[in-house]
Amino acid sequence: MIKSFVSFLLKNLPRTFLQRVSRPFFYIISFFYRGDKVTCPVCDSSFSSFFPYGRQVRENALCTKCLSLERHRLLYIFLRDIKKTINKNVKVLHIAPEICLIKKFEQIKNFEYITADLDSPLADIKMDIHNMPFNDNDFDIVICNHVLEHVEDDIIALKEIRRILKKKWLWNCNDSFLLSYSRNNIGRFYNN
Ligand SMILES: [Zn+2]
Repeated sequence: MIKSFVSFLLKNLPRTFLQRVSRPFFYIISFFYRGDKVTCPVCDSSFSSFFPYGRQVRENALCTKCLSLERHRLLYIFLRDIKKTINKNVKVLHIAPEICLIKKFEQIKNFEYITADLDSPLADIKMDIHNMPFNDNDFDIVICNHVLEHVEDDIIALKEIRRILKKKWLWNCNDSFLLSYSRNNIGRFYNN
């Protein structure tokens, strides 16, 4: 029942609306998930389980306090650990920023952290990923998580990301992106 309801909402409500209402909604839901079986590394809170979530609903997926999903918690742990090895200031662009990660990344002292999106109310800058308003070699890190499978032309978007990166690192931390690009697109991209 709850899986069907979640799936219906995600498929039918606009993303910007969901971004605005999800935090107070899940704040109430979190009281039904009190417990200590799972702990979210992003907000350091414990629950009986994570909330089932996704268009194809996954069990144990969403933290009802900070709204992180599995991929966000993985990305957070990854960046939390590697930031200990970064000993200089780095300029970071976070495209389509996830609400659960913004405050965390803003708090990292040596990150000059900028968020950008086409229409998200959470982002500092409104922009089209196909034509980003940044100079060449502008950023040390670009975080682009769960975005490229939704854009109009993923090859142009990848070229833009590559253009604005200082060392031409193409860095993303998304399983579906890595799988889809390693299978279908990455050769085409690099051949171009
Ligand atoms: Zn959390």
